[in-house]
Amino acid sequence: MLPGRKAYWGSLELHSYPDASAVVRALSPDEPVILNRPHAAARAARFFVEKFPGKSLYAVKANPSPDLLQVLWASGVTHYDVASIAEVRLVRATLPEATLCFMHPVKTRAAIAEAYAVHGVRTFSLDCREELDKIVTATDGAEDLALCVRLRVSSDYSELSLASKFGVDLANAAPLLQATRQVADSLGICFHVGSQAMTPFAYVQAMERVRAAIVDASVTVDIIDVGGGFPSIYPGMEPPPLEDYFGAIYRAAESLPVSYSSELWCEPGRALCAEYNSMVVRVERRRGNELYINDGAYGALYDAAHVGWRFPVRCLGDERDSALESFAFYGPTCDDADYMEGPFMLPADVQPGDYIEVGMLGAYGAAMKTAFNGFGQAHALETSDEPMASQYRGDRRDPRHSDNVVSLR
Ligand SMILES: *Cc1c(COP(=O)(O)O)cnc(C)c1O
Repeated sequence: MLPGRKAYWGSLELHSYPDASAVVRALSPDEPVILNRPHAAARAARFFVEKFPGKSLYAVKANPSPDLLQVLWASGVTHYDVASIAEVRLVRATLPEATLCFMHPVKTRAAIAEAYAVHGVRTFSLDCREELDKIVTATDGAEDLALCVRLRVSSDYSELSLASKFGVDLANAAPLLQATRQVADSLGICFHVGSQAMTPFAYVQAMERVRAAIVDASVTVDIIDVGGGFPSIYPGMEPPPLEDYFGAIYRAAESLPVSYSSELWCEPGRALCAEYNSMVVRVERRRGNELYINDGAYGALYDAAHVGWRFPVRCLGDERDSALESFAFYGPTCDDADYMEGPFMLPADVQPGDYIEVGMLGAYGAAMKTAFNGFGQAHALETSDEPMASQYRGDRRDPRHSDNVVSLR
C-alpha cells in the first residue's frame, strides 16, 4: 500500500478472452498476466452511485489504472479522491471533467498551488493548523475552498489500520474546526476507519466522534465524509452486505447536528476496484507445499507478503480432481521476504508448469507492481468472466466457491 510506486501494467492492446484458462491456452505466458474485468468495476461503481446515500469519490491510490478510471467515469463516478500531485495530473489528463478532491492531509505548497490554479481542485483535507495555513497561502487566500478536517478515529474494526498516521484528536479538533470555518466556503469533517472494515459499526462509532467534534466546536458543517474502508471479499473475510454499511451510515448522518443542506460523501477505494483484476502466474518450482511462482512481494502480491493478506486462487488448465491442500508461495526475486504464507488452497498435485489464477487483486494489487530485481513486467488483458468473488452479485455464499474464496466462519 505504498502510493506512488511505479505501475507496470504493460500497454498490450486489450484483446478480450472468455477467462484465464483461455488466456493460458492461447499464450502460455512466460510472465504474469494481469486480467481486467471492466464489467465488474462498472457494476461496483453503479452500485455505489445508486445506493450510497450521498456522493462517492473513488480513492485513486487503490488502483490508478487509466483504463479503470474510464470505466468508473462511464459508470457515473464523477468525483475522485487524489493523494499526490501525480495523481491529480493523471486523473485530470484521463478525465478532463472529473471533480478532484485532494484528500492527503500532508501536501507540499507547490502541489496545492498547482492543484488549485492549474487543475481546478477546490477540495482539500487537513489535520493541523500548519496545513491550513499552507492551503490558504498556496491558494492566495482563495474564497471558494471546501476544506475537510480529518478526524482521528479508531481502526478497531478494520483489517488494515489507518489510525495512527493522520487525523486530529477529538481533544484538539475544536480550535482547528473553528479556524478552518473562518476561511472555508464549505467546511467538512472526514475520517478513515481503516481499510477492509468488517462491520458497519466502525462507521457508527466514528460518527459518534464526529458528533462530539461538532458539538465541541459549535460550527456549521457542510460535508460529512466517511472516507474509505468499504470491504471486499477474501478468504477468511466475508463482510456483511454493503447495504448494511450504507444504512448504518445514513442513519448516523441523519442524526448529526449539521446544516440542513449538508452533503454526505464517501471515498471507496478497495470496494470499487478489488474485483477489477486477477492475475495469472506460473509455478516454476515446487518444494513440499511451497510453490515458487513468478510474481510476489515486489509485484501484485505485495499485501500477501507484507501483511499476510489471503487472496483466492485456482489452478488453471485440465480439470483437477485431487483434493485441495494448503500452499505457501515464494515470489521470483532473490529476497527472502518475497514469501507469501497464505495459506493458498490448491490441488494436492499442483506442479511446475501449472498456471494459477490469483483473484481479487484489483485493489492495492495490480497497482503495486514494481520492477525490482528485473521482475515486474505484466501485460494486461481483458476477460469477460466473473471475478472469483463479488459483493455485487448477490451470490456470495455460492458453495462451489466457498472453500477457496470465503471461509464461512
Ligand atoms: C486509502 C484511502 C481511501 C480508500 O480506502 P479503502 O479502504 O481502499 O476504501 C480513502 N480515503 C483516503 C483518505 C485514503 O487514504
